[in-house]
Amino acid sequence: MSKTSYQPGTHFLQIPGPSNVPERVLRAMAQAVIDHRGPEFPELTHAVLDGIKPVFNTEGPVFIYPTSGTGGWECALLNCLSPGDRVIAYETGHFATLWKEVADKLGLDVLWLTGDWRHGIDAARIEEALREDTKHEIKAVMAVHTETSTGVTSRIDKVRQAIDAANHPALLLVDAVSSIACTEFFHDEWRVDVTISASQKGMMLPPGLSFNAVSDKAMQQAEKSRSCHSYWRWDAMQSFNEKGYFPYTPSTNLLYGLREALTLLELEGLENVFARHRRLAAATREAVAAWGLENLCLDAEEFCNSTTAVLVPEGHDADALRTLILEKFNMSLGTGLGKMKGKIFRIGHIGDFNELMLAGTLGGVEMGLQLSGIPYKAGGINAALDYLAKQ
Ligand SMILES: *Cc1c(COP(=O)(O)O)cnc(C)c1O
Repeated sequence: MSKTSYQPGTHFLQIPGPSNVPERVLRAMAQAVIDHRGPEFPELTHAVLDGIKPVFNTEGPVFIYPTSGTGGWECALLNCLSPGDRVIAYETGHFATLWKEVADKLGLDVLWLTGDWRHGIDAARIEEALREDTKHEIKAVMAVHTETSTGVTSRIDKVRQAIDAANHPALLLVDAVSSIACTEFFHDEWRVDVTISASQKGMMLPPGLSFNAVSDKAMQQAEKSRSCHSYWRWDAMQSFNEKGYFPYTPSTNLLYGLREALTLLELEGLENVFARHRRLAAATREAVAAWGLENLCLDAEEFCNSTTAVLVPEGHDADALRTLILEKFNMSLGTGLGKMKGKIFRIGHIGDFNELMLAGTLGGVEMGLQLSGIPYKAGGINAALDYLAKQ
């Protein structure tokens, strides 16, 4: 689109993150910056640090960094591990692969359990690998909860059970970037040691913040870490946070936004937030099935609340469909990442999203399918509306 043209109406940002930011959050951010070392700041710090705990279901600290999710991954690995440490990483899809590459670059020794990008984590394989590790050389298990590149949500409770069944002391590190505030997540109950998340998905904020929720066990491991780093240190973050401050300049206006987003989540009620995501995801799958197209996720137990990845039939290009829909109907859909490039498109149904927005989204997809020459059956949108009307 040239700079001089204008597409009227609302742009539909239906990628699975960054997600749509509510007007109330945008307005909350449009306020004067205050002194992050001044007397007013602790009120904001404590509001966001206390307010975020229920979202992770934790009583422990949640550290907030001015960074993307990738920074949150690096932060977790640097704090509680040392170069040369052996870790398990499970290939659920593109994000798991990227996280593994971060671990490689930080000098960790990664045992890579490969997957087919259509299923979540098979916890039995983690249990087996841990049982074989009789000397307890494996220091951590890296698991992606919702694999946003495939629309598959793994069972983290099963991963916990596998670690316990093997009676292994490895830390459990979980990427919950696109599941926090979309899908139930129990940091304390599942005894996750570090949960990594970010602002631009279910938290309904612009990109720019990443979170580490940290267990006591991980805090203790951090004291022994030999990794060289400074910016990411949990200990410095914790001691400043306790007084209501940050070790360096935080993203003040994103914190205003976070405070407002937490208020919105509380007003809706987290249970209702999860139920809404579940309902809209189920309606999307009704549409996909009625179109006669295939959901990339093969196991109904692992269906994803945040995004649905749709396979296009052989010989067709999912990115050509996406481009057509963007140009003609002003809607962005998620692209296929990594080895799914061109094979799938992803419908984001994450964050600040409702029934009528989904109706518009599915309308755009259905019109795009009609124009693209991709074989499909009409009526996906009706199937979704019918499902939603009965809820
Ligand atoms: C979005 C996302 C990330 C974060 O990536 P950044 O681009 O660094 O913010 C990480 N993991 C998953 C599963 C994601 O969906």
